[in-house]
Amino acid sequence: MSRPQPATLVTHGGRPQGARVTVNPPVARTSTVVFDSMATLQKALAERTRHERGLLYGRKGSSTGDALEDVLTALEGGHRTRLFGSGLAAISCTLLACVRPGDHVLVIDSCYDPVRRLCAQYLEPMGVAVDFFRPDLSDFAAQIRPETRLVWAECPGTLLYEMCDLPALVALTRQHGHITVAVDNTWGSGLLYHPLALGADISVVAGTKYLVGHSDVMLGAVTTREPGAFHRVADMADLLGHSVSPDDAYLALRGVRTLTVRLRQHQANALTVAQWLQQQAAVRTVFYPALPEDPGHALWQRDCNGANGLVSIEFQPTVSEAQTHAFVNALQWFGIGHSWGGYESLALPMRPARALEGSDWPGRGQLVRLHIGLEDSGDLIADLAQALVLVSA
Ligand SMILES: *Cc1c(COP(=O)(O)O)cnc(C)c1O
Repeated sequence: MSRPQPATLVTHGGRPQGARVTVNPPVARTSTVVFDSMATLQKALAERTRHERGLLYGRKGSSTGDALEDVLTALEGGHRTRLFGSGLAAISCTLLACVRPGDHVLVIDSCYDPVRRLCAQYLEPMGVAVDFFRPDLSDFAAQIRPETRLVWAECPGTLLYEMCDLPALVALTRQHGHITVAVDNTWGSGLLYHPLALGADISVVAGTKYLVGHSDVMLGAVTTREPGAFHRVADMADLLGHSVSPDDAYLALRGVRTLTVRLRQHQANALTVAQWLQQQAAVRTVFYPALPEDPGHALWQRDCNGANGLVSIEFQPTVSEAQTHAFVNALQWFGIGHSWGGYESLALPMRPARALEGSDWPGRGQLVRLHIGLEDSGDLIADLAQALVLVSA
């Protein structure tokens, strides 16, 4: 049989096997695991050092978590997945697993802002040098050093959805011996974008967003292409004591079952709203890679399987911050809040931090990031229309 499509993988992955079984895996709550003999315990310990599956102690994983990891590994097309208690925990553990004092890291300038803080407040004081590169890679090759050990990318970016030519980036790193390439794949969430297939070593997803999909669980996941990278990340996760509760793993698994249908609807709604926003006088730019006018459109068409519910707008430069706040306050169906990827619509004014002078974001007008949820798109447009009256000059 040919490799199953994502809709089949999320429906059948991680399910109990056997002659007479529940459809869903049980929530296996435990801290302590008991063994019938020292021989069994010693065998379990030895297997665990090699990161083989099997119960040992609650912190070391659960059968519910294993089921979720299996679905995510299949979606990402990787070797294995390690779960974390949040997306940021997955990111920080990956960074710590890949670098040592004296190493150099290259980070994409469009990265999730807390990554920048982690670099400035932890990695650099620890003796790891960090430089930033533009998503268009124009200054990437020139910054690679003999000590460069890790490239941290995020594609598309999650504020302005800058695309990065990942196969080109990987090809450049391969000319310099082995540099680990890790990608924050939260935008694609294992479905819309496949960094491992494009040559990256590690894909990191904040499961909190689309994987969970219902705004009720914090979760992170790291999937690697090869066993070597998996062992490095899993060793560091064990050292630092990362663990995920089986209840959270269960809720995430339940969310993942509908990932493909939810994202199809998020994309349909977001495209309708984005095209409508393009027609509005107060809106200067609509950032959505599925729009032909978006700067990343060609790469998005080449490398992505679809788009999600994230749409950002830049208002005309005449629109003030106070008007922008009034616009967001006036929205009825959009909550004001961080995060995204749940079933509901959200709106948030934002200011992308950019390390590079004159980076791709010129920062002219006020920016608002919208997450287009699963409401009726006509209702969302009517809501945006009544709120936009407040920013029309
Ligand atoms: C939200 C987010 C994270 C962090 O995930 P948490 O679960 O909130 O810690 C990381 N990267 C991106 C791109 C995100 O949007």
